[in-house]
Amino acid sequence: MTPETSIAPGGTLGILGGGQLGRMLALAAASYGLKTHIYAPDPESPAFDVAARHSCKPYDDEAALIRFAQSVDVVTYEFENVPRRTAEIIAAHAPLRPNAAALATTQDRFTEKSFVAGLGIPTAPFAGVGSEADLQHALREIGRPAVLKTRRFGYDGKGQVMIHPATDVADAWRTLRGAPCILEGFVPFEREVSVVAARGVDGSFAAYDLCANTHRHHILATTVVPAGVDDATERKALAIARRIAEALDYVGVLAVEMFLLRRGDGEELIVNEIAPRVHNSGHWTIEGAETSQFAQHVRAVCGWPLGSTKRRGRAEMRNLIGHEVDSWAELLQEPGAHLHLYGKARAQPGRKMGHVTRISPEHAHPGEPV
Ligand code: AMP
Repeated sequence: MTPETSIAPGGTLGILGGGQLGRMLALAAASYGLKTHIYAPDPESPAFDVAARHSCKPYDDEAALIRFAQSVDVVTYEFENVPRRTAEIIAAHAPLRPNAAALATTQDRFTEKSFVAGLGIPTAPFAGVGSEADLQHALREIGRPAVLKTRRFGYDGKGQVMIHPATDVADAWRTLRGAPCILEGFVPFEREVSVVAARGVDGSFAAYDLCANTHRHHILATTVVPAGVDDATERKALAIARRIAEALDYVGVLAVEMFLLRRGDGEELIVNEIAPRVHNSGHWTIEGAETSQFAQHVRAVCGWPLGSTKRRGRAEMRNLIGHEVDSWAELLQEPGAHLHLYGKARAQPGRKMGHVTRISPEHAHPGEPV
């Protein structure tokens, strides 16, 4: 830990983005005696409620960005679609961690997959698509079924269309309104898993155990840890995340989402995407690990030593989506159910309103509280 790169307690962490991830980061920062300043354009940002300061300004307000950067000791972000120009302005006035290049690489699916494949890490077959003719060509190369995705701004299955054998190509192309796209071969995966890991300013690396994720309507529904894969697969997944973090010269927490395939007796991993931030599949770490992913991210971006990622038992995290949050009062009655609510005013369908985590002893039946 060197004084030039580290922030002392009492300092201020700047966060671009004001959603639940920013909120939980701010809470973790507060527990280390740090203040947070949140920058987000939405006046109803859930992170504003728990931060010492906030700037409710658009991401293209250069003067406001400079004022924000000058008011803090280090800046991080809680979403990957921070515009490039915004990142550049911030980086000119404050340390930006993770760096702007990590952001640029991971916010475009084509750049991201090219980067991962360039490291020799398996991905689905993919091709960049800029026109209907490109799409026809890519489909001949990759085959069907395939998934057409916008290169940027896709999340929770938005900006995505499946191309089945009977799908009309012109229709599929029109659905995404001519946006620059990537075509990916459909991966017949058995399960979806993710690695949540951190890299420090000094290059140290610490990963949590592999997470097994289920989705409903393309939105993360549950995460269970341990994932129950072969030890060799788990080691391989963690090594992939480390290789990615090192190649990006990454500082902070990142998540690498992967597909697990079964071929005969063997398990195989294919990287789907990188999230350059704390991640929903890491929420279980708040109660389930020695250091939460939020505390870990704060440690990393402040230039502090990383904390232990050791698990405290078997963890199950369940998102409360839309009106599922209405069960909050029952969840409060349940011993061992750790309830987190994000303070969002309206429970719209598909909106992440909170989550609940249950930790059980390593060798007990799942669900049995410790
Ligand atoms: P993404 O936005 O890339 O995370 O994709 C959202 C979800 O769509 C993933 O979690 C998968 O369930 C599914 N998906 C995305 N890409 C593929 C693919 N190439 N093959 C099969 N399923 C996919």
